[in-house]
Amino acid sequence: MKLFFHGGGCGDVCCLRVQNLSVKIGSETILHDFNMHVHCGELVALIGPNGAGKSTFLKAVLGQVDYDGVIAFSSPGQRDRRPRIGYVPQSPTFDPGDPVSVADLFACCMSKRPAFLGLSKTMRKTVLECLSRVHGEDLIDKRVGTLSGGELQRVLLALALEPLPNILILDEPLSGVDVEGMGVLMDMLDEIRKTYDLSILMTTHDFSNLGRYADQVVLIDRTVLAQGKPDDVLSSEAFQKIFHRGGGK
Ligand code: ADP
Ligand code: MG
Repeated sequence: MKLFFHGGGCGDVCCLRVQNLSVKIGSETILHDFNMHVHCGELVALIGPNGAGKSTFLKAVLGQVDYDGVIAFSSPGQRDRRPRIGYVPQSPTFDPGDPVSVADLFACCMSKRPAFLGLSKTMRKTVLECLSRVHGEDLIDKRVGTLSGGELQRVLLALALEPLPNILILDEPLSGVDVEGMGVLMDMLDEIRKTYDLSILMTTHDFSNLGRYADQVVLIDRTVLAQGKPDDVLSSEAFQKIFHRGGGK
């Protein structure tokens, strides 16, 4: 595994560069000959059939799985430091009967004070500030298990934005979210990207929003099959083969 920081290649605008990446789990090769670039401030959508290796790729970028090849970061202004990565995992489930509130969830992640003692005034103010980034102040006292798919994604997004990352990674944030909620969430990601000047890398099965929001789409199936502007990738032969003639698995 080689992880390093680079200051050249594609200039200061390239924030994540992946070269000849491969991931093996046991004897199975999950990813091979994987190359891609994410430029600073871009929203990049990773698409592909189930089992294509999308989540595995995100885990490699997060350093959660071993890999061969190069994953290189470049963050303007903090050249020698690993960039901060915010991560929203794929569909975590919470028991509807669980008494844990949104405030408790933040307290567990952000404070050493035991959650059963309740939130200090200062911490409550901090949590409200975090939730305001996703226009979710009204969710603070709701139980996590009762949130709608879209509300839960906004809460997880608020958690991933504290502290503010350089790169935000989301694994299928639109799954379990209704059509209206998808638009709200994508508008919010677009706003967050511009407000905080960060790059977003997300996986999705929803292709309808790509043209409007994504700068780049990367189609993968164990390796990169197509990468470029949304329209180009969605009309590519590789896309047709996987999602139409091939049935999309
Ligand atoms: P996607 O997110 O595109 O649906 P994944 O990255 O979850 O795909 O999985 C890609 C392949 O890797 C699948 O065949 C899956 O079974 C396999 N895989 C993922 N994680 C593991 C693991 N921890 N152990 C064994 N196989 C795994
Ligand atoms: Mg996945």
